[in-house]
Amino acid sequence: PTDINKLADEYLRLAYHGLRAKDKSFNATLETDFDESLGLVSVIPQDLGRVILNLITNAFYAVNDRKSKSDETYLPTVSITTLAENKSLKISVKDNGNGIPKEVVDKIFQPFFTTKPTGEGTGLGLSMSYDIVKKAHGGELKVDTKEGEGTTFTITLPNRSA
Ligand code: ADP
Ligand code: MG
Repeated sequence: PTDINKLADEYLRLAYHGLRAKDKSFNATLETDFDESLGLVSVIPQDLGRVILNLITNAFYAVNDRKSKSDETYLPTVSITTLAENKSLKISVKDNGNGIPKEVVDKIFQPFFTTKPTGEGTGLGLSMSYDIVKKAHGGELKVDTKEGEGTTFTITLPNRSA
């Protein structure tokens, strides 16, 4: 039985403070919109936590990358939303980074695919996340992205209230 809202909130703050400890100039607005009706859900917490952390890490990388190419008017923002539905629940991680180019988006779930410089990415985060969500939890992992606007990853899980 896992409090997914708490898990997501903790990882968001952990990742943010970890990044700021390494790079004092890094700054981003964090937004959360948690559905309090979610309650406790039956998941594998370490695995789902790893997926959420992967998505958050990618989102921070994306906004940081855009920031390095933008002027001061750009406000890096990373948001997490949860939503309980009757038969499913959704966890979304949204960023206002540069988005994913069309020719790249079809490859992002492949193992070892990365656009990051050597040493900065293994290309394993999304392929592992996909397997954890799909095979271990019977859910879906989808991406919605627009170049120049940002990216949203949404995990959909069967709503197994614990
Ligand atoms: P890695 O982060 O090690 O590169 P991932 O599997 O986590 O590996 O991601 C694969 C690729 O998908 C990234 O290299 C990047 O090109 C793209 N990607 C993932 N998340 C985002 C995002 N939020 N914004 C833009 N591109 C992304
Ligand atoms: Mg990654």
